[in-house]
Amino acid sequence: MEYTVLKGTHDIINNEAYNYSYIENLLSNIAKIYNFKEFRIPIIEKTSLFVRSVGESSDVVRKEMYSFLDKGEREITLRPEFTAGIIRSIVNNKLLFNDVPVKAFYCGPVFRYERPQLGRYRQFNQFGIEIVGSNSYLRDVECIVFGYNALKMLGFKDVRLVINTLGDANSRKLYKEKLVEYFSKHIDEMCADCHERLEINPLRILDCKNEDDQHIIFNAPKISDFLSKESNERFQNILNCLDILGVEYTVDEKLVRGLDYYSETVFEYHYTSEKGINYGAIGGGGFYNNLVKEIGGPDVSGVGLSFGIERLFNILKDNNLLAKDDGLDVYIIPIGNISNQYLSVLFTTIRDYGFSCDINLESSSFSSSFKKAERNNAKFAIIVGEEEINTHILTVKNIETKEQFKVVENDLISFLDKNLEEDNDHCHE
Ligand code: AMP
Repeated sequence: MEYTVLKGTHDIINNEAYNYSYIENLLSNIAKIYNFKEFRIPIIEKTSLFVRSVGESSDVVRKEMYSFLDKGEREITLRPEFTAGIIRSIVNNKLLFNDVPVKAFYCGPVFRYERPQLGRYRQFNQFGIEIVGSNSYLRDVECIVFGYNALKMLGFKDVRLVINTLGDANSRKLYKEKLVEYFSKHIDEMCADCHERLEINPLRILDCKNEDDQHIIFNAPKISDFLSKESNERFQNILNCLDILGVEYTVDEKLVRGLDYYSETVFEYHYTSEKGINYGAIGGGGFYNNLVKEIGGPDVSGVGLSFGIERLFNILKDNNLLAKDDGLDVYIIPIGNISNQYLSVLFTTIRDYGFSCDINLESSSFSSSFKKAERNNAKFAIIVGEEEINTHILTVKNIETKEQFKVVENDLISFLDKNLEEDNDHCHE
């Protein structure tokens, strides 16, 4: 075939698209309960926005951005994540001068030039939240609990929340120095990526997945030994809240996350199915205190989290948790030579009253029409032949029970109302 999807991209169609909407709607509705407001921001931003915020030492900026010069020679990037754009929008629109915190939720595609593999795409979708303009650690708790409860509501049973603190800037500085000292002694035995990480950001070595490096990483200095009193207290307060709320977590001192703006709390949600399939991180987030200022706003901090919709969908699919499409209310089956004017009035009237409806115009056999009705998951088929037209009495068949009714044309809407009222909530007084 001449045209196929680009590597790392995918079409989302039919039941998959239905379930993407289901996931996004469920998350949006929970976000509204938490008083988050929707933000829709551009997909393209200035390249420098991401370089400044996500950070020059992150893999995202160093290797994965879709950057290009536009026709006006501007350096543009397809967003590789949302947080930087959300903060830019909050700053541009001066929202921090009104009510703080600003609570934003978002959803849409992001782009990263990564090596495609199972659950890893070059264009994928994220849903996330940000709370900006508050320093209270309870805001971290709010984000963590939002994610935890949202995954429960999607039906995920074995969510593992992993949490860590990166400490404040000073704690991190001390810690990084110790890491450099430690890893410099062992770097000759470590992978090529770690050599690079040692130069750019030694914290990222802790994230290395190379088996042979693990024993060296295991014995590395721990952040907990370098935390300031305030950072330690902040972290313990968060863990206490999670304990009280019954949110289970594991503290993993190796969790550093890939984006450079994080400080203090970082967390991720991991999922392993009952069958033992490990889906890795399905969402993650953390606290940031320099980002808003870095992007030109006031000196305030924020906290956020984002989920990858593709990974959530894959888990739903593999664990029989997919939502089912409601299907059609009515499928019209014309038999013989029925006037198009009559049919057009019939399907338009039904739709005008808010019932979902389609019609078979493409095949002539009754059995194939009926199969089409079933494939469309229709609740009722309306069979229209010459007799129905002459008598103004329609034949309506309940697809599931196979029960057949004779319905006077003028009574059709009230018939549908009565028989579909449990499924639908139509407003057409
Ligand atoms: P991050 O912005 O890197 O913290 O990623 C947040 C979430 O987005 C992850 O937990 C994944 O669920 C998802 N994600 C990240 N990268 C990819 C990718 N290349 N393909 C699909 N999902 C991804």
